[in-house]
Amino acid sequence: MNNIPRNIFNKIKTTNPKLSFFVFPILLCIVLIWIIPFPKEKLTPPPSTIVLDRNGKMLRVFLAPDEMWRIPVSANKISPTLKKAVIGYEDKYFRWHWGINPVAIIRATIANIKAGRIVQGGSTLTMQVARMMEPKERTIPNKLIEMFRALQLELRYSKDEILTFYFNLAPYGGNIVGVGAASYLYFNKSPDQLSLGECALLATIPNSPNQYRPDIDMSSTQKARAKVLGLLRKAGKISSQQFKEALSEPIPDRRFDLPFSIPHLSTRLVQMYPHASLLETTIDGKIQQLATAILQTHLTPLQRQGINNGAIVIIENQNQQVLAMVGSNDFFDEPNQGQVNGAIAPRSPGSALKPFIYALGMEHGLIAPQSLLYDVPVEYSGYRPINYDETYHGVVTVENALIRSLNVPAVNLTAQLGENGIYYFLKEAWISTLPKPKEHYGLSLILGGCEVTLLELTNLYSGLANGGKFRSYRFLKTQLEEPGQQLLSEGACYIISEMLSQLRRPDLPASWEFSMHLPKIAWKTGTSYGHRDAWSIGYTPQYTIGVWVGNFDGKGAPALVGAEVAAPILFSLFTALENSSDDRWFVQPTSVSRRQVCAVSGMPLSKNCASAKDELYLPGISPNQECNIHQLILVDKKSGKRLCSHCRIGRKYAEKIVEQWPVEIATWLARNGYPIEKIPEHFAGCSKLASGEKPIIRSPSDNAEFKIRPTVALKYQKILLDASVSNRSKKIFWFLNGKLIYSGAPTQKVFVTPKIGNHNLMCMDDEGRASEVKFVVK
Ligand SMILES: [Zn+2]
Ligand SMILES: [Zn+2]
Repeated sequence: MNNIPRNIFNKIKTTNPKLSFFVFPILLCIVLIWIIPFPKEKLTPPPSTIVLDRNGKMLRVFLAPDEMWRIPVSANKISPTLKKAVIGYEDKYFRWHWGINPVAIIRATIANIKAGRIVQGGSTLTMQVARMMEPKERTIPNKLIEMFRALQLELRYSKDEILTFYFNLAPYGGNIVGVGAASYLYFNKSPDQLSLGECALLATIPNSPNQYRPDIDMSSTQKARAKVLGLLRKAGKISSQQFKEALSEPIPDRRFDLPFSIPHLSTRLVQMYPHASLLETTIDGKIQQLATAILQTHLTPLQRQGINNGAIVIIENQNQQVLAMVGSNDFFDEPNQGQVNGAIAPRSPGSALKPFIYALGMEHGLIAPQSLLYDVPVEYSGYRPINYDETYHGVVTVENALIRSLNVPAVNLTAQLGENGIYYFLKEAWISTLPKPKEHYGLSLILGGCEVTLLELTNLYSGLANGGKFRSYRFLKTQLEEPGQQLLSEGACYIISEMLSQLRRPDLPASWEFSMHLPKIAWKTGTSYGHRDAWSIGYTPQYTIGVWVGNFDGKGAPALVGAEVAAPILFSLFTALENSSDDRWFVQPTSVSRRQVCAVSGMPLSKNCASAKDELYLPGISPNQECNIHQLILVDKKSGKRLCSHCRIGRKYAEKIVEQWPVEIATWLARNGYPIEKIPEHFAGCSKLASGEKPIIRSPSDNAEFKIRPTVALKYQKILLDASVSNRSKKIFWFLNGKLIYSGAPTQKVFVTPKIGNHNLMCMDDEGRASEVKFVVK
C-alpha cells in the first residue's frame, strides 16, 4: 500500500507543482494518521461487572476496578432521541466533518480571545472522544494531539461507532461514566427507555458534569435541559407540544441505587470469575425475589426464639440450573452475620440423607417398601444408635422407617450395604464436603455425622427427581450441561418419591395451614444433633427446593426442628411456584410394578398369610421370598402340644397357622409387651432333634473382655447374659463353663458375678438348639 501514495506524489509533482505544495502535506498527514499507532484499548476501559438473571435483567452491578460505575451499552440500546439531542447540543456538523470542524475552532478562538479566558472549546464529538480516552490538561499542544487522535478515530471507525464510544466514555457526574450507568442511576431505566426530557437532561451533563448533574444543582440542570430542548425544537426535531411536555418533566433529585438482589451469589461469582465483566446467570429474578420474601416472612417470628437465619436453594431439575439462591435472612444484618452464605456453609444434615440409603437398599434388592426392618437395640463395635425419641419400635416397614425417620433401621441398612453404602454414593453424586476416609464417618454418617452444604444437598435430591441421574448444578448460562451419571435406577427413585410424598407423617408441620393448598411434593426433613440445623428438602418433576434454618454462629435452639421451622418455608415456596394439577407428577416407570404382600410380614404372600396389602416393587430386584412368619403347625388334639412330621404318626392332630417371629427380634418383642402369639411346645415324647434357628447371644459378645475394678463392690460389676430366641421357645438354659446357672423364660435378663479367668458360655433353647461364646475376666 506504500506504493500507492508514492505514485500519487509523483503524478502530482509532474502535473502541477503548485498543487503539490498543498496536497503533499495533506497526503503526508493521512499517511501519518494511518501509520502512527492508535491506542484503541483506551476506548473501552474495564467496565463494571454486571450480573444478569436468566432473562437479561440486571441483578447486581459491581464498581469497575477504578471505582467508577461503567455499564457499557451498544448503539442499538441508546435512544435515538438521545443521539439527536447530543448531536444537536454538542456538534451539529458531526455527520459531516472529518473529526475536526475548522469553523468551530476559529469561532471558539475568537470567543476565547474576546473573553480573555477559555469559554468555548470548539471540540467536535470526535475530539471529545479523543480527550475522554486520554484525559490531558487543556493546552495548545494537547489540543493538537486531540485533533490528531480525532482524525485517527474518523479514519478507523464509522460515525455511529464514534458516537457509541462517546456515550460509553462521557462523564455524568461523580463516579458515573457512560450513559448506561447514568440512565440507571438517575432514572432507574436502561438508555433505550428514556423520555424526551430525560434524553435532553443526559445530553447536557457531560458538557459540565459537576455543574449539571441533577442531584447537586437542580436549577442549572433545568436551564441546560431547556437549552437542549430549545435547540431540538428550533431544528424541527420535536413539536411545540413535545417541547412543553418535556420541560414539565421532573428533575431527579437523587441517585437511584443499582440493583442488589442476589448479593451472596454475585459475590461468589465475582470471586470465581474475576475477569468476567458480564455474568449471565441461570437465576430467575422473580423466583429469587419470592424466595427472599418468603424466607423473611417466616424468620421474623422465629427470631424471638433465637433462630436468626436461613437459606434457600431452588434448582430446575430439567437442566440443573439454579433458579434462586438466598444466602441469609438479611445480607446487611451484621450482628447475625448476614453476609455469610448459608447455602454453601457446611452443616450437619441430620436425617436428610436417609432417603438415599433406602434408595440404595431398594436398588440392591435388600428391601421393598413394605419389608420389615428391625428397630431394636443393636451395637456395632461399641456404637449403639438410638432413635430421636429414644424409644425402639421392634419392627417397622421400610416406608414407616423412612417417613418416621427412625435411626436404628437406617443404621442397620447402612451396615448391611457395606461398600455399596452411602459414603461412596455421596462422593460420586457431587457431595464435596466429605474429605475424610469412610472409616472416619462410620455408620453414623447416615444420621448426619458429616457436613453438607444446602446447595449440594438440594442438588443431590434433584438426582431423585431426575430418575437417578446425578449432575452438578449450574449458575451460569455459559456452563455446559453435563450428561450426568446414573447412580440410582429410575424405578428405585420413583418408589422413594412415592413414599416421600405421603402427607400423613410425623414430620408434617403441626400447623396444617401450610399444607392445605400444597401440591403433591416429595419431601424430607432433617434436624441436626443439638438442634443446630433444621432442614427441609423437597421436589416435584420440575423443581427441587432446599431450605436450611439455623444460626451462623452454630447456636442451637429448642425450636430448631426441620418439620417445624424449615418445612413450612418449603411448603410456602412450592405452593407459590407450582400449580396443583396432578398430571405434573412422575410417570411410573416400566421397571416398577404393584404386588400383594403379607399384611404382617410385608413379604410376598404364602398360602398361610391371612391378609394382604399392596406395594410398589422392582420385579427381578426386590426381595421375593414368601412370607415365613405365617407358619402352619400341627397340634396334638389330646395334649395341645406341637407335633412334627416324626411324632405326628399315629396321633390325632389339627392344623393351625401361627406367627413365628425371627429369632433376632422375637425375645425383644415379647419382653417389650408386644402381643406375640404363644406357640405350643414340641411334643415331649418326640425323639427327633429339632432343626431351625439357634439362640443368638447378645451379651456378652464373643471374646469380650471384662476388667474387675478393685474399688467397686463385685455385686455392682455383674455381667449381663442376654439372648434372643424364636417365639417357639418357652424356656432357655444358660451354661457357664458347662454348669447350668439359669433355666427359665427367655425374656428374663440374667446376671452373673464376674470371676477372673477364661469362660465358656452356652445358651440352649427348649428344643436343644444352642450357641456359645467365650469371654475373659481380668
Ligand atoms: Zn404372612
Ligand atoms: Zn416331634
